[in-house]
Amino acid sequence: MDVPLRVMTAVTGVSGSGKSTLVTQVLAELARRHLGQAPDDAEDTELEIDVDDVTGLESFDRLVRVDQRPIGRTPRSNLATYTGLFDAVRKVYAATPAARERGYGAGRFSFNVAEGRCETCQGEGFVTVELLFLPGTYAPCPACHGERYNPETLEIEYRGKNVAEVLALSVEEASDFLADVPAAARSLTTLSEVGLGYLRLGQPATELSGGEAQRIKLATELQRARRGHALYLLDEPTAGLHPADIALLLRQLHRLVDAGNTVVLVEHDLDTIISADWVIDLGPRGGDEGGRVVATGTPEQVARAEASATAPYLAARLSSHPATSQMRAVTEEVSSE
Ligand SMILES: [Zn+2]
Repeated sequence: MDVPLRVMTAVTGVSGSGKSTLVTQVLAELARRHLGQAPDDAEDTELEIDVDDVTGLESFDRLVRVDQRPIGRTPRSNLATYTGLFDAVRKVYAATPAARERGYGAGRFSFNVAEGRCETCQGEGFVTVELLFLPGTYAPCPACHGERYNPETLEIEYRGKNVAEVLALSVEEASDFLADVPAAARSLTTLSEVGLGYLRLGQPATELSGGEAQRIKLATELQRARRGHALYLLDEPTAGLHPADIALLLRQLHRLVDAGNTVVLVEHDLDTIISADWVIDLGPRGGDEGGRVVATGTPEQVARAEASATAPYLAARLSSHPATSQMRAVTEEVSSE
């Protein structure tokens, strides 16, 4: 089986045909071993792979798995901390005349550092309430009312807002507010480009859906904006997205390819599949009868493959929307917004 370099490949097939195993486990594990990276978590190490004659891995200098796992497991992680955007915000606050006068450094504006945070809730914004006979529940912190900082920290304002008020802004609102701060503006632009303009900067990691976590990871990758030879692996990135958001996401994935990277995704969405440069269809059926490559080629070629269960759907989709005009339509729709 060949996975072409520097293009976008969609791995398709009926459910149970082994798509996810191939991409998120086998390909990921092979690339990980080649690069000498540690496994992401314990379950990855249990995988035993017996593959001979793997070639071409030397073309990659980085492996990026853009999956739906949470960006953090506690409310101490959020969109702003994960993307690095909050570092820029804290520097802006530390540079204000009032902060300099009081000797507040950037650390003062972190809700994870003792000096600036609310000590009642230790910067969490809420406290655990123990109820007799009931599991503990969370209630807003009585001291800071969810703002996470102590009053002295909140006296420092930048353009009329304190740091807690900035964390309450949506990505869209923050794009205006922080337009003059290049490091923050870059992050915010990429977050908007993957359709996350509605998220609040301080939205805890634990409140984000798998799809949102995946798009935050993608945006974080995009903001690095470097040309490279990375291998990007994505498992159903369009799951649960509205068509307009799928269009946004596809545009970003094609940008990664244009910059010299290789993108491999597991996908069911026909619009996404026909926008790929290459398709690897697995089958012929699920379970024990899956796991074999039944067709590979451009979307047009796979649509004509007789053994492929995906082919008839692909053919029908292509006849109503030829791939090239579809992608052009997607791009125009996005750029006219
Ligand atoms: Zn508090």
